[in-house]
Amino acid sequence: MSVSSTLFAHGGEAGGPERSGTGPAPGESAFGRPLTGSVHTVAVIGVGYVGLPTAATLAYLGHRVTCGDADPAKVAMLQRGEVPIVEERLEELVREGQAAGNLTFVQGAAAAVTGAEFVFLCVPTPQGDDGSADLSYVEAVAAEISPHLAPGTVIVNKSTVPVGSTLVVERVLGRTDVKVVSNPEFLREGTAVPDSLHPERIVVGADDQAAAARVGELFSGTQAPLLITDAATAETIKYASNAFLATKLSFVNAVASLCEAVGADVRDVILGLGYDRRIGFEYLKPGPGWGGSCLPKDTRALVHIAEQAGYDFSFLKGAIATNDEQFERVVAKVLAAVAPSLPDGEGPAGDTGAGDFGGAVVAAWGLTFKAGTDDLRNSPAVEVALRLAEGGVEVRAYDPTVSVPEGAGSVAVPGFATPDAPGSLLAYPDAYTACQGASAVVVLTEWDEFRWLDFAKVRDALAAPVIVDARNLLDPAQVRRLGFSYVGIGRR
Ligand code: NAD
Repeated sequence: MSVSSTLFAHGGEAGGPERSGTGPAPGESAFGRPLTGSVHTVAVIGVGYVGLPTAATLAYLGHRVTCGDADPAKVAMLQRGEVPIVEERLEELVREGQAAGNLTFVQGAAAAVTGAEFVFLCVPTPQGDDGSADLSYVEAVAAEISPHLAPGTVIVNKSTVPVGSTLVVERVLGRTDVKVVSNPEFLREGTAVPDSLHPERIVVGADDQAAAARVGELFSGTQAPLLITDAATAETIKYASNAFLATKLSFVNAVASLCEAVGADVRDVILGLGYDRRIGFEYLKPGPGWGGSCLPKDTRALVHIAEQAGYDFSFLKGAIATNDEQFERVVAKVLAAVAPSLPDGEGPAGDTGAGDFGGAVVAAWGLTFKAGTDDLRNSPAVEVALRLAEGGVEVRAYDPTVSVPEGAGSVAVPGFATPDAPGSLLAYPDAYTACQGASAVVVLTEWDEFRWLDFAKVRDALAAPVIVDARNLLDPAQVRRLGFSYVGIGRR
């Protein structure tokens, strides 16, 4: 059956002041009083950056939620009420759910789905070799849970998946007595808790409108607008959203480059743009390039989806190419900044290939792809740091989420280097130590704490007082007064 898109307003129908189910009693929750509707039994498979906030939110809304994950260490931590990722207030929300008896964690997908009315799939969909989304995790879970599902169960695909994946899951499940629904997720790491408790919209796509409506009803307590579509439309909404955000970031980075060329200041240009409500301020901040676990893979997947369907999405390819240029622009700014400190004969005279900058030491503040998370996946900060290292620069990084054991001096950033490998990425215990003897410091992640450092101390630690601010986080006038040479992105 084809389903036309329908927009519902959640809220009034959700139970109002009446409380049902086992959700926190009025006044018990630190997150305010949830509006609870009817209570359901839910399984969430994969408790990562998406699955865990989703599960904790559903528990907060009063549902009985069992989470299954393949990682035994993660499950053990969560059973103890410890959250394995950096996400503000998530541990509090998880512990509330556990205390209310609404949130439990088990090892493996099959163990979680027994008796569940709804099963949320929140497993990874990484980038495949050809740019397409790799559905192997989704398919593996579907195969694992299929024999354990009760008739009538609704499988809810929250992983970001290409158009047509609902049919793939149906095929792998091989069950005609269960429904598959698409429910893309829009939360942002760093604000996952408020984003999940107060989403801007809930999108549910399915050919079976009744199944989609039942999934929407699970979230009625959030009072978010509910958009019910067919599955292909829901899947497209997710990719189009991320493609738009990536494009907006590439646009503002390109405008920053233009500002540098014509002598304008991008901060004022953004003010002039953002007050126009058609444009807005969100995602209008220049930086070292966009990254993270979603935008790079989702934009490439959409280009691939379009190609498969016979449409050349050259516009989006342009946004991706602009992003790659942005990494290089930031690397070039850093290399130009450290060149004066290098011995004669080295530096950027002409070619700046690998090794040209051997001997240069640069401090890097920030490694995560954005502030408020510990996620290093496809981080632009890491990308820039690694490109600098490839050019022969010794990068000394500091990030508040990368801990250095007491007395260790520095630590290899997990997943990116070994201590003795060339191009090794080392993290230091604090922002000042990372700067010791460096020819410049580059700000790569917008952690607020960087704004409040003692910049006289930073200046004294550096071998040369040079700041490359790839996040436009600092006040140029303030640091220049202290004797720094300051280079931002599109700023005078
Ligand atoms: P993640 O890597 O943080 O979490 C995935 C979890 O799934 C892990 O805990 C892993 O152990 C578990 N898992 C893998 N295979 C399993 C299996 N067979 N059985 C049980 N558990 C298994 O990933 P994520 O960032 O939460 O992303 C999940 C999906 O959500 C992806 O499709 C992603 O594109 C999408 N998404 C992510 C974000 C985000 O900000 N991270 C936002 C929106 C959508």
